[in-house]
Amino acid sequence: MRRLSRLATALLGVAAVTLAAACDSGAPSIDITDSGPPVDTNASFPAGSTMQRLHDAGKITIGTKFDQPLFGLKNPVTGRPEGFDAEMGKLIAARLGIPADHIDWVETVSANREPFVQQGRVDAVIATYTINDQRKEIINFAGPYYIAGQSLMVRSGNPAKIASPDDVAGKNVCAVEGSASSSNMRKRVPGAHVVLFDSYSKCAEALKNGQVAAMTTDNTILGGLRSLDEGAFELVPGTFTEEPYGIGIAKERTDFARFVDDTLRAAFADGAWSAAWDRTAGRILGPAPAHPDLDRY
Ligand code: GLU
Repeated sequence: MRRLSRLATALLGVAAVTLAAACDSGAPSIDITDSGPPVDTNASFPAGSTMQRLHDAGKITIGTKFDQPLFGLKNPVTGRPEGFDAEMGKLIAARLGIPADHIDWVETVSANREPFVQQGRVDAVIATYTINDQRKEIINFAGPYYIAGQSLMVRSGNPAKIASPDDVAGKNVCAVEGSASSSNMRKRVPGAHVVLFDSYSKCAEALKNGQVAAMTTDNTILGGLRSLDEGAFELVPGTFTEEPYGIGIAKERTDFARFVDDTLRAAFADGAWSAAWDRTAGRILGPAPAHPDLDRY
C-alpha cells in the first residue's frame, strides 16, 4: 500500500506539473480540476424531500474509494478523490444546486459501504459498488451507471500460470473484505485460498511482493491498479461475473434514489455520462460503452 500510494502521489505530482505547464503554454490539457459540471442554480424540490434538505444545506456527503485509480483516487494536493465515481457524484451535486467543492468526500472501503449508508454517515455511496439482492435488502440503489465484470490479475510474466479462475484452486488469491469479488471467488472456486485485506491497494502490494498468486476483483479496478504500476502486473483475459455499479442510498430515501436515477438518465442522454467516462476511466479502459439500462425504468 505504502509503495503504491507513494507512486500515486508521485504520478499525481507529475500530472499537476504537466497540467500547469500545459496551461502556461496554452496547449490542450486534461481536466483534473475540481470545478465540476455546471450547477443548476434554479434547482427547486418538493418541501420535505431529501433533495430539498441537501439543497438547503448547500452540501452533500458522498462515500467513495480513495485508493482506486480511474474511479476514486485521492489527489494529494486537493485532498479530493478523482475518477469516474467522483464525476458521478459531481453530476448529482450539480443537479441539487451544490458545487463540486461543497461535496464532503468520505472514504468508504468495500466493507463499510452498507453501514455508512444505514447509519446516515453519508448521503450516497459511489464506490465501484455492485447492485445485488443481498445489499438491496438493506439499502436502496440508483443505477446501474456501469457494468463491470470480475477478473484476475497476476504478476508480470504470470509465474503461477493462471489462465482462468479454476487455476487458482489451492493457491492464495487476494480479495477485499465485504466485496462481492470475495464471495464470487469462493463460490466459483471453493478450493481457492482467499486472503482478505480491507482495500485493493493492499492486495496489489501483496501480489507484487509474491505473498499471493493472484488478486481478484472487477476488471475496472484491476485495470486502474495496473495502469499505476505498468511493469508489475498483467490481467488474465476475460471476466467471469457481471457487476452492475449502483449508487447506494438509505432504504427510507426512495425520493433521493429516484432523483439520482433521473440524474443518470439525463446524463446518459446529454452526453455528460460518456464525457465523464472519457476523461477518467476511459483514458485507460477505452471509449465509453453504451450506457446500461436503469433498473427502475
Ligand atoms: N464491485 C464489487 C463490489 O461492490 C467489487 C469492488 C469493490 O469491492 O469495490 O463488491
